[in-house]
Amino acid sequence: MPRDTPLRRSLTARLLALSALVSLCSIAATAWLAARTTTGAIKQEQTQAIADHTRIYRQLLGYAATHPDWNDAQDTVRQLAAATGQRIVLATPRFEPVIDSAAPAPDPAALPRTPTTIVDPLSVDLAMLPDAPGDRIDARAVGPFRLTPGEYQALRNELEQQADCMRTVLGVDATVTDDLAGRPQLRTANGSVLGRRCATPMVASAPTRTDMAALADLTALANACLARQQLGPVTLSLGPDGAPVSNARPDQPTSACLTNARRQQLVQYVAPPMLLFVGTPADTAGPAPVLTAAHPGRVTEVSAVVLVVTVAVTVTVGLRLSRPLHALTHAARRMADGDLSARVRVTGRNEISGLAAAFNAMAERRGQLEELRKAMVGDIAHELRTPLSNIRGWLEAVEDGVATADRALTGSLLEEAMLLQHLIDDLRDLAAADAGELTLFREPVDVDELLTQVANAHGAQAQASGVTLAVEPAADASEVFADPVRLRQAVGNLVSNAVRYTPAGGTVTLRVRAESDAVLIEVADTGSGIAEADLPLVFERFWRAERSRSRRSGGSGLGLAIVRKIAELHDGGVQVASTPGAGSVFTVRLPLEGAKSGSRELAGRHPGA
Ligand code: ADP
Repeated sequence: MPRDTPLRRSLTARLLALSALVSLCSIAATAWLAARTTTGAIKQEQTQAIADHTRIYRQLLGYAATHPDWNDAQDTVRQLAAATGQRIVLATPRFEPVIDSAAPAPDPAALPRTPTTIVDPLSVDLAMLPDAPGDRIDARAVGPFRLTPGEYQALRNELEQQADCMRTVLGVDATVTDDLAGRPQLRTANGSVLGRRCATPMVASAPTRTDMAALADLTALANACLARQQLGPVTLSLGPDGAPVSNARPDQPTSACLTNARRQQLVQYVAPPMLLFVGTPADTAGPAPVLTAAHPGRVTEVSAVVLVVTVAVTVTVGLRLSRPLHALTHAARRMADGDLSARVRVTGRNEISGLAAAFNAMAERRGQLEELRKAMVGDIAHELRTPLSNIRGWLEAVEDGVATADRALTGSLLEEAMLLQHLIDDLRDLAAADAGELTLFREPVDVDELLTQVANAHGAQAQASGVTLAVEPAADASEVFADPVRLRQAVGNLVSNAVRYTPAGGTVTLRVRAESDAVLIEVADTGSGIAEADLPLVFERFWRAERSRSRRSGGSGLGLAIVRKIAELHDGGVQVASTPGAGSVFTVRLPLEGAKSGSRELAGRHPGA
């Protein structure tokens, strides 16, 4: 961790916070979606299961109400199981399986502890069938009240006649249908009663012979019950829905005795009570599993695991990301503190390693520039020191009376001062060029003419050195778009060097050559030449083959560096070819197109021209 980065601002901490937030949101969203979907599915399943259970119960109750035993119920149970997709098991109240829709030989051990309900037509489960009669005796359990085929037909015929009459005479929509007990009933759409005109001699609601016998039995059973409670006997008749009713007292003991009597009378006609188990085919244990208290715990557990994994991954990634950044920061700080050797290790090929490589390149370049700067300062100090100490030495000698300030001395002092001036001018030019402030004032320049001017300017120097200075006339017109002052300066530097390094009797030749895309200015001499190993160095600042000799002869050590700068500003360059002992040829190349199209510089009169 960098020393001044607070924890909450660190990259790792921010990454951690971000990913924890993202994972919490996704966990919450997933849990919410899962809960919604699961709850919906469970509700649907439960509704379906309740509908299936009711259907199974109603149908088995119907079977029990109309059969004295369960012997033939196997097929009904199988069909119901197939239709609902549920497993159905019927067992005795002592949990002995009698019928199992899934297994031919039911296994008592496989039964769950609680049955779904009890199938008993004489005690209907109101939770399963809320529309059951008040006495909880299934309407389909009729026992001895079941009409003989003859009675049924007679009753039906009579009711059909009445329905016919009602339709035709009274215009009432009347039909005859069997009720739950299997007894035909006359029904009208608007509940209108039988009109007198349609009444038949035989009254439809009058008890049949079967009804009479059953009613008599039932009355005896009910009265015996009432007698046990010291209550008077009652007379029973059939109600409008075919169920027996007491025509005397509709009080509590009477209806209790009547219900008991009915159960007593019906018990031998209906199948015995059975425990009913309904469940999924794989498991008869009961309803489908629902979300229990264990589930929220599990959600918390999974969330915790996800969070731990997220934190671990983020911390690892964060540390991997921030480690090279810390190394970079550390190296940058070292560099700021003056340690130019600070570098970072570059690993991988990602953005951060790209940054590290760029940092190293920058540090390398900064190191080189620093070296250059140090060398420059050293060189400048050195170059200034020699003429200055000469001047000082002579002045001290005059002051001490050792020398006289005669013409020869002042001439020598003037020479040293000019050397200093030359050096400072060259330095200023180079610094301006480095800073991009050396502005060119370009105009069409006749190179032939320019060479003649330079040769004339250096004629005296050449003559004094016994060197022949010649300008070879150009083969064809050679015009460039250049700054004449700077170009004269560059060629002048080359000519000055050539004269300086050519012994008496030698020749310095200036010539111009035109190529298709450039003009070449050559300054050739028959002087000392330059060793091959030194050729790449001659254009460096303050480089000299022989330090003392060239300084003595008036060189600043910056002449060729300035030539190169001026050539480059004209989009050209400078080259040297040399044979030690035979001479050198310096060639300035000025491109024609580049020189004309150069827009960086001003075209016009040179202020110093
Ligand atoms: P100086 O002021 O020393 O001449 P320059 O930059 O002009 O500085 O030249 C650098 C060095 O290149 C010179 O010191 C000299 O050793 C070498 N040099 C330049 N021109 C010539 C030449 N025409 N013949 C031989 N050596 C040369």
